[in-house]
Amino acid sequence: MALEVVCLDLEGVLVPEIWIGFAEKTGISALRATTRDIPDYDVLMKQRLRILAEHGLGLPDIQAVIATMSPMPGAREFVDWLRERFQVVILSDTFYEFSQPLMRQLGFPTLFCHRLITDERGMVVDYKLRQRDPKRQAVKAFHDLNYHVMAAGDSYNDTSMLSEADLGVLFRAPANVIAEFPQFASVTEYDELRQAFLKGSPRQLSM
Ligand SMILES: [Mg+2]
Repeated sequence: MALEVVCLDLEGVLVPEIWIGFAEKTGISALRATTRDIPDYDVLMKQRLRILAEHGLGLPDIQAVIATMSPMPGAREFVDWLRERFQVVILSDTFYEFSQPLMRQLGFPTLFCHRLITDERGMVVDYKLRQRDPKRQAVKAFHDLNYHVMAAGDSYNDTSMLSEADLGVLFRAPANVIAEFPQFASVTEYDELRQAFLKGSPRQLSM
């Protein structure tokens, strides 16, 4: 009997980009910057935290805004479908504190991500990354536990996870990522992802 874990990226696969959504909801356009604008993640995060502080936004305010955001249409049904057939773990570079309102709408599947550090007033003062290359490390660890790993993600920070997995699929990835990583199948609909995982499973499963 094969033991299987499906590892999913969160932002871009199940929910919209949280920082971009937050920037739109609050009108703070400086928060739209991503790693494409500022490649050094540490510099980018320090800038984000400074902007939050300048606007006097503490964690409760931030969570209230994020709570008005929704998962992508069909995401909750997709996750529920997966969890009936596989073990599902979300591997994300977001923070537990940010993702909480969206994870609630997904029924709180298991999430491995990072942690924010707040002060006594709820202001975000720092952050703690779980480890280096966390998505790849998680897949390696599941392999050590004798799991067959299938994974899906949408961007550069997923490619080490996809190559480490037994099956890696790009989901709604931008054209440059698809072109750069032709070794991965690329799909745009949850039904295609369902089919890919059924086919990639060592068990004989059907819809
Ligand atoms: Mg993503």
